[in-house]
Amino acid sequence: MHASAVYNFAAGPGVMPQEVLLEAQRELLDCRRSGMSILEMPFTGEAFQDIADQARRDLRELVGLPPNYRVLFLPGGASTQFSLLPMNLLPPDGRADYVDSGHWSRKAIAEARRYVPVNVAASGARYGYRRLPCRRHWRLDPGAGYCHITSNETADGLAYHRLPDTRGVPLVADMTSDFLSRPLDIERFGVIYAGAQKNIGPAGLTLVIIRDDLLRAAWPACPTAFSYRVQVDSDNRFNTPPTQAIYLAGLVFRWLRSQGGLGAMAARNRRKSEALYAFIDASDFYACAQRVADRSRMNVCFHLAVPSLTAEFVAQARRQGLLNLQGHAAVGGLRASLYNAMPEAGVEALIAFMAAFAARHGR
Ligand code: PLP
Repeated sequence: MHASAVYNFAAGPGVMPQEVLLEAQRELLDCRRSGMSILEMPFTGEAFQDIADQARRDLRELVGLPPNYRVLFLPGGASTQFSLLPMNLLPPDGRADYVDSGHWSRKAIAEARRYVPVNVAASGARYGYRRLPCRRHWRLDPGAGYCHITSNETADGLAYHRLPDTRGVPLVADMTSDFLSRPLDIERFGVIYAGAQKNIGPAGLTLVIIRDDLLRAAWPACPTAFSYRVQVDSDNRFNTPPTQAIYLAGLVFRWLRSQGGLGAMAARNRRKSEALYAFIDASDFYACAQRVADRSRMNVCFHLAVPSLTAEFVAQARRQGLLNLQGHAAVGGLRASLYNAMPEAGVEALIAFMAAFAARHGR
């Protein structure tokens, strides 16, 4: 919670650890005793290189990244990666599998289709996106160069709690809204990418983790600065990287290590989301439509038994310092995003407000 005593449940950009914000504020004019602000530091100089190297080391340690995986910090947000994946991972006549599990995978599919034929291996449409597509119905293309999933559907409130078996086809995951929220079996992935604005740092920064054997020359049409191969070969310095964003992400990685790492985060995230889901499930005023086994621990989507009260719920919550509880515009309803930096006290405050709101409306 910040000095202004609010809890921010926004889906993204989301709540940041207060310790990180305070340290960034302290160092704004004089970063690591260099006499320079991070905004002024040349990216080729030793001071920034130390910051970037430390961020990479901390991330590798947190995730347990084996040596055959590379880490890139790129600009452009996760949506840019929707286009860059086919151009970097496939030959021009290649094709890819995508699993349609909700709003963000549909966006990824639409963009990939501009470049290559896409086989939608499974879709949650038949379930109204209230559960992940049933594994029995997945139809993978044996000739696909990769299989793409969205590990956490931010707008729909769904998450993979077990990774799919893609039968040898490299698994590519958009982990924008759950990366760093739990430990990962990293060797199951070919590529992980994530927009930073949930659990990593500032919007605009994107993290790409790629296994060595998937690095290849990008298509000639791919902007050189967005070629994974070129950026790996130039140590992520083909052009000016987003220096301040990398610095801030580095502070978050250090904060995560100080909190006990991803195991501790997973335990805390489970407690937070389970408390909120249990309250909703026990109530006849609130409801959550998502199948229990597929519910997200990051984005709890729910609705009111009386939908006409939704705007009033959001407005009253805001007045009590519980911010940004409206659902995604494409989905509606309500949504509480419980990223790593959301304290358990924030969830307790939300539940207390929800109980009082229901009581005021006769439940
Ligand atoms: N993928 C997921 C799962 C998201 O939640 C979002 C944004 O919230 C995006 C992709 C798009 O990210 P960006 O706005 O960084 O392009």
